[in-house]
Amino acid sequence: MTPLVSAVIDTSALRHNLEAVRRFAPRSRVMAVIKANGYGHGLTAAAQALGSADAFAVARVDEGLVLRRAGIATRIVLLEGVFDREQLEAAAAADFELVVHTREQIELLAAACGQAARFRVWLKLDTGMNRLGFKAADFPAAAAALGALSCVAAPVNLFTHLSSADARELPATAEQLARFGTATRGLPGERSIANSAGLLGFPDAQADWVRPGLLLYGAAPFAGAVGADYGLMPAMTLRSRVIALKSVEAGERVGYGGDWIAPRPTLLAIAAVGYGDGYPRSLPSGAPVLVNGERAPLAGRVSMDMIGIDVTRLARAPAPGDPVVLWGRGLPVEEVAVWAQTIPYELLCGISQRVAATPE
Ligand SMILES: *Cc1c(COP(=O)(O)O)cnc(C)c1O
Repeated sequence: MTPLVSAVIDTSALRHNLEAVRRFAPRSRVMAVIKANGYGHGLTAAAQALGSADAFAVARVDEGLVLRRAGIATRIVLLEGVFDREQLEAAAAADFELVVHTREQIELLAAACGQAARFRVWLKLDTGMNRLGFKAADFPAAAAALGALSCVAAPVNLFTHLSSADARELPATAEQLARFGTATRGLPGERSIANSAGLLGFPDAQADWVRPGLLLYGAAPFAGAVGADYGLMPAMTLRSRVIALKSVEAGERVGYGGDWIAPRPTLLAIAAVGYGDGYPRSLPSGAPVLVNGERAPLAGRVSMDMIGIDVTRLARAPAPGDPVVLWGRGLPVEEVAVWAQTIPYELLCGISQRVAATPE
């Protein structure tokens, strides 16, 4: 049975986008970021499609464990590290690499050394994001403390995260790169700095390892750009179907709150998708969807399970069962994100549990 709503995943697009990343950063290894259920594409499915990545990065232990249980043997980095003994032991058993960003995490490692296996670690410097990481003044001591632990594999790798790489005009990234250079000068270990925007916008940030997420899924990290501008292919197409058609007179109100008032006699298509699927309620009337491949505007508020679409002007009137695309091939998720006043990341990873992620 074909589900009414599905996130159709084009695994060849994922592979294509990984190859594109390798062309953008030819001297770097690729840590493919597949946290948050592979940005909605399915954690294991993303890992399998991106199997030629040099490593995977996830946010949390549980995400890494799902990958190991699925038989993924590739290196896995925990971007936030571990926070208690139980997680540390799970990480040791699963051979995860740890980002280390607090003194407590070093103490946790120190207390477990002896029993614990050897960990590859990534020591995180806070170069200006002011979220995770040691400040420059504390960095040398942290590097020395980690390096002295018997359960830490030498050398300690070096890591930071960029706060504003999507805004190439701001000085923030150059400042972060300078701070990273200064604080890590002379230290051994591999370096990793750049997310998608960083690796595209600042080639100096590519370093030994790049950490793309969004690019792999085919979306562009810069305002006003779409993945196709960089030769990327959308990996997810969110699809539904028309379930009813309705004619309304000029002046009739449509949907909850009656927000949308038909300006003329209107043919509406009702499609089975709503905020219960992760299609955001913040999308206003006028936001585009594709009906039978043609653009048509939303009419009325997004409900939990349904939307109304003004199909009056389509060349061919749709029929029940006809395909509706909410974003993906033919309708860039970046464009829908602008209408929803959010970013493509939130739309992709916000697909809800009831949406079947299905390979094409
Ligand atoms: C999520 C994340 C990334 C990937 O970011 P994109 O903008 O999707 O490329 C890279 N590094 C860290 C530390 C992250 O948390």
